[in-house]
Amino acid sequence: MPHWNNWSGRHQARPRTLHHLHGEEDAAALAAAASRDGRRVRATGTGHSHAPLIPTDDVIVDTSGLAGVFSVDGATRRAWVGAGTKIHALGLPLRREGLALTNQGDIDRQAISGATATGTHGTGRTLRNLSAAVTGMRIALADGRLVTASDTENTALWRAARLHLGAFGIVTALELALRDAYKLREHGWASDWPALREQLATLSSTHRHFEFFWYPGTDQAFAKVLDETDEPPAYPLADEGSRLAWSYEVFPNHRPHKHTEMEYSVPAERGPACFEAIRTLLRTDFPHVSWPVEYRTLAADDVWLSTAYERDTVTLSVHQTIDEDETDYYRACEAIFRAHDGRPHWGKMHYLSGETLAAIHPRWRDWWRQRDAVDPAGTFLNDYLQQLRSDA
Ligand SMILES: Cc1cc2nc3c(=O)[nH]c(=O)nc-3n(C[C@H](O)[C@H](O)[C@H](O)COP(=O)(O)OP(=O)(O)OC[C@H]3O[C@@H](n4cnc5c(N)ncnc54)[C@H](O)[C@@H]3O)c2cc1C
Repeated sequence: MPHWNNWSGRHQARPRTLHHLHGEEDAAALAAAASRDGRRVRATGTGHSHAPLIPTDDVIVDTSGLAGVFSVDGATRRAWVGAGTKIHALGLPLRREGLALTNQGDIDRQAISGATATGTHGTGRTLRNLSAAVTGMRIALADGRLVTASDTENTALWRAARLHLGAFGIVTALELALRDAYKLREHGWASDWPALREQLATLSSTHRHFEFFWYPGTDQAFAKVLDETDEPPAYPLADEGSRLAWSYEVFPNHRPHKHTEMEYSVPAERGPACFEAIRTLLRTDFPHVSWPVEYRTLAADDVWLSTAYERDTVTLSVHQTIDEDETDYYRACEAIFRAHDGRPHWGKMHYLSGETLAAIHPRWRDWWRQRDAVDPAGTFLNDYLQQLRSDA
């Protein structure tokens, strides 16, 4: 029996079938057969989600064979790419066309389909998440149709499915809104927290990207800013914190240590207070936790299930090593995040019910209505998503 596990190893599955896709006709035939036979299908990118989005004992679909930059429109600055393309494989081919992703997250190992399916984001007060860059998608639906949903075609489906959690069908390709290729200069520095707190608003507003990691044991932070530059790239690349190169060479960081993670998005103006509450919690109730808290910013968007839906946002992430039980710590953090009107990251851990998610996300029920219309039998739901839906 095949075996699947996510990046951290926390989630495991023994699916009846592990199907490797290489083309969209196969995706459509698989979707039709699965729905006819009452099977359950979950597509996966690279399994970097901490939430149990993939596990099923039925069919897991590996989409890594659907890779490559398929077409580029330089005039509209858009490109169609294979859904399974790793983010790191987009940088160079897009730069050859004079284009780039507007922003990227901490790492670039995920598939673009997985990253956009969960609202993956980087940092930057004026920059939106990756789902907001999806202007079109090709989806193999449960009835075996391959449809294009975009900002000009099947728009109702596109609006809902830009952030889709793998629940609408098998996504075979994505059209992404891009920008002109650009270079970034990175500057990272250590600071004690009180000093950084004084500069928080200025750093957020004067740099294209600003973030920091705060380390509870020492009360020290490692802050980082990235800004566009016309300077020539400096090769070989310097270490993280002082790189100067094309955007896709500067964004990614090395994250080798297996961990779990909870992340919430709070309204931007509540970010500093929410961070202070988490800092106090760590110092008083969880002094043994050494993993850092990450603080980033994110611009409002119009993606239905986005954590930044119609509000500028600060994201706060807490981590724990994979070997330790994080439950008490994360539950205590979640209470603080919720008290600050937080929305959980779809690819990370949370303990919320569908009922609570419905109260948090104004378009929750609209999203489910669109989803149910294209997959009434729930072929593309696993137990986790089914539970969230039945709670709602
Ligand atoms: C070390 C690490 C660093 C991270 N850094 C960041 C960060 O900086 N910012 C951030 O926001 N998040 C971050 N994440 C979270 C991560 O980006 C998300 O969980 C993302 O969804 C993972 O992408 P993936 O390709 O591994 O997708 P998976 O985890 O494999 O899948 C995610 C979702 O996409 C669906 N899916 C994937 N491909 C398809 C397809 N072709 N058709 C239909 N559905 C599909 C799956 O069914 C699932 O619902 C990080 C995670 C880790 C482990």
